[in-house]
Amino acid sequence: MRRALITGAAGFLGSHLCDRFIKEGFHVIGMDNLITGELRNISHLFKLEHFEFYHHDVSKFVFVPGKLDYILHFASPASPIDYLKIPIQTLKVGSLGTHNLLGLAKVKSARILVASTSEVYGDPLVHPQKEDYWGNVNPVGPRGVYDEAKRFQEAITMAYHTYHKLETRIVRIFNTYGPRMRLNDGRVLPTFIGQALRNEPLTAYGNGTQTRSFCYVSDLIEGIYRLLMSDYHLPVNIGNPAEITINEFAEEILKLTGSQQKVIHTDLPQDDPKQRQPDITLAKKILGWEPKVPRSEGLKTTLDYFKTLTPEELTNSKAKFA
Ligand code: UDP
Repeated sequence: MRRALITGAAGFLGSHLCDRFIKEGFHVIGMDNLITGELRNISHLFKLEHFEFYHHDVSKFVFVPGKLDYILHFASPASPIDYLKIPIQTLKVGSLGTHNLLGLAKVKSARILVASTSEVYGDPLVHPQKEDYWGNVNPVGPRGVYDEAKRFQEAITMAYHTYHKLETRIVRIFNTYGPRMRLNDGRVLPTFIGQALRNEPLTAYGNGTQTRSFCYVSDLIEGIYRLLMSDYHLPVNIGNPAEITINEFAEEILKLTGSQQKVIHTDLPQDDPKQRQPDITLAKKILGWEPKVPRSEGLKTTLDYFKTLTPEELTNSKAKFA
């Protein structure tokens, strides 16, 4: 039986990856330190014979007994308010954590895929963003702790590929949404849906003309799975090119939820990228992949998930580390 280690297993993407690898017939070892992940995302897997869970911080030495065929490194705080509150852990998991997992991949002769991000492009001066764009990142700004950790992650992963001949894969993930996002993670979709369900105004930062391109989680997982199984070792963008302004997005959420509230404008966070859209020509070419789920459908499923939260969970919109 093929065995896969998934770090960040209790997080939004990690938990969906665990589901996918179980479905594909793998023995899955999930690992998470539960700083931002939540056990309820994977509680349905605990009864399975071929799922195990290690409560562990991958920034410290990682040991897993037995053979490993694949490692997927998805552990990291990933929303701006999270990495502003735990900046050092964010830097460590992207750097020390990646180093530990590359070392583990080397001793196990496992193929490793690391989760990189559109944040490596920073506030991009090229639009849409292609993989050969080197980015526009402020290393000492608030987002630097995440962006630079991920850029270091790409560099060390390439070094292990080049110098140790390790089989490596790098996915650059653009904004993704779906069930199991944390309501209080500060990202725009859970924030807007939470505000709409609590009958509060929606807070668009700045003038709301900044853009993002939102990919539904099932499309993203399919792209990641295909990339892992491919023989391509350079970074690949996975995301949905359907670009929208934050103002338009707020209007969509108001319509979807039937909220009568309005959109208010508050301060724009420092270094907030003005535009973001993946160029997915490469993914289409080498993986035969493109997103299939339109926003109208994905948002409906996501709203249905948030509606299953208890009123108490809905009211508690405070950030986890406040
Ligand atoms: N945003 C917003 N209101 C909110 C939360 C976020 O207008 O309550 C904006 C944020 O400034 C950014 C975009 O929505 O321009 C996406 O933010 P998010 O935190 O989801 O992720 P990012 O793409 O910036 O990493």
